[in-house]
Amino acid sequence: MNYGKHMDQTQREPLRGRKMVANNQGGYSFEVNDWSRLTRFLVLGSEGGTFYVSERELTRQNASVVERLLKEDGVRVVNEIVEISQDGRAPKNDAALFALAMCLKLGDVDARRCARAAVPLVARTGTHLFDLANAVKAFGGWGRGTQAAFEGWYNALTPEKLAYQVAKYQQRNGWSHRDILRKVHLQPTAEKQAILRWAVKGETSGLAGNDATKVIWAFEQAKTAKGKSLIRLITDFGLPHECVPNEAKGDPAVWEAMLPNMGVTAIVRNLGKMTSIGLLAPMSNAATFIQQRLNDEELLKKGKVHPLNLLVALKTYAQGHGDKGKLAWQPVQGVTNALDSAFYKAFKAVEPTNKRTLLALDVSGSMTCSNISGMSGITPRLGSAAMALVTANVEPVHHFMGFSHTFIKLDVNPKMRLDAVVNYFDRIPFGGTDCSLPMRWAQQNKVPVDTFVVYTDSETGATYQHPAQQLKEYRQKMGIGAKLVVVGMTANGFTIADPNDAGMLDVVGFDTATPAVLADFARD
Ligand code: CA
Repeated sequence: MNYGKHMDQTQREPLRGRKMVANNQGGYSFEVNDWSRLTRFLVLGSEGGTFYVSERELTRQNASVVERLLKEDGVRVVNEIVEISQDGRAPKNDAALFALAMCLKLGDVDARRCARAAVPLVARTGTHLFDLANAVKAFGGWGRGTQAAFEGWYNALTPEKLAYQVAKYQQRNGWSHRDILRKVHLQPTAEKQAILRWAVKGETSGLAGNDATKVIWAFEQAKTAKGKSLIRLITDFGLPHECVPNEAKGDPAVWEAMLPNMGVTAIVRNLGKMTSIGLLAPMSNAATFIQQRLNDEELLKKGKVHPLNLLVALKTYAQGHGDKGKLAWQPVQGVTNALDSAFYKAFKAVEPTNKRTLLALDVSGSMTCSNISGMSGITPRLGSAAMALVTANVEPVHHFMGFSHTFIKLDVNPKMRLDAVVNYFDRIPFGGTDCSLPMRWAQQNKVPVDTFVVYTDSETGATYQHPAQQLKEYRQKMGIGAKLVVVGMTANGFTIADPNDAGMLDVVGFDTATPAVLADFARD
């Protein structure tokens, strides 16, 4: 009788002597620590929930994480929020604003003080400010500290910048500057007072002859201007598209005038529109200009253009029609290609490690549901394919594999354009999940691997061996000190990486820093 054989462990139970938690697929995973989970939340958000957990439940889970961390070290929480938001590491700023609101309302004295100072750093536009006001509402009223935090936003801006912000972003989610200014006790300079009187009451009397407020003056003129005079206003005063009447936006000349002053994000959002009205055509000046902008790494960094937004833009632009509405266009090749290369440029620069890298993509059913950061059509599965391509583009020795409960052959290579990869991944069949499969496959086939990179939600099935255990077995049998990087694709609390094993690491999918962190870890 071989009693030992009955002591084999599958994921149906936690590893002996280890603290593990049941995931939603009936297996046991490790728990990511709260600080890593904060990063996951700040980068990936909880919009749309996951395959297993609703948006509401996932948001509440992440809010409890923030609350726990505020008790541990509130100042560090604020610093983390500022860093991720300022570096443009997240596709959306919403989770950062939400977490900052929690710091403002629930932090200790030091955390609240830091959070107040951080408001202008994290709320960089009027829209952000309105979102912050919305989030604050969820955690209590407008006490003196909250008022001071919002006053700080208006005080931090120069009159020119304030004028631009109030003209460009007038209201959102039921908040306007008027609503906020009613809550606070701002004591503005005379110059700012004139700007705010316009924002609150539409009064234009104090604006004349003032250099700082000329954008508002131009905005007022643009409301009734037509043809050449409208174009002159746009050109002379750099009016943003929010300040141009919608009726005028069918005119290619209007867009041509706006283009030089448009940020990359605004350009990327309006590519379909500019193509449909004929401004963007093959080899046109506008197309060349936009391709140059998209190729400008500095500009992408400065504009905090996130690769996920570029991926969404590429997918939409290449398909030739919007997801909603009737807008349709014939995509201009050069622009589609420029979006594709901009995607890679928007990540922090990565040096190749020349390690043998297995890019193992979890293509199971749970990876096909919900969208990353609520981004239309970008499931964790598609997102992980794009992330894997970033590493494949710098690592000369790599191999792609797909897995669910079985091995799936993947026909992808770094030369492929992202929209083709996305379409390909949309058609792959899916099933259950066995996250130990990449290591088992490499062991059975004697494939030498230095770095296993597994893109997954760590919701892994019950009937297989633990992935961490499988990696240890692989190291032993192959005599390679292989490492495992888990790229978390949803903001849940699970990981297959053993936190006690220095050769395993958790990173966050679609953090712009992830490919560089991954390479540093692989390199030691
Ligand atoms: Ca799964």
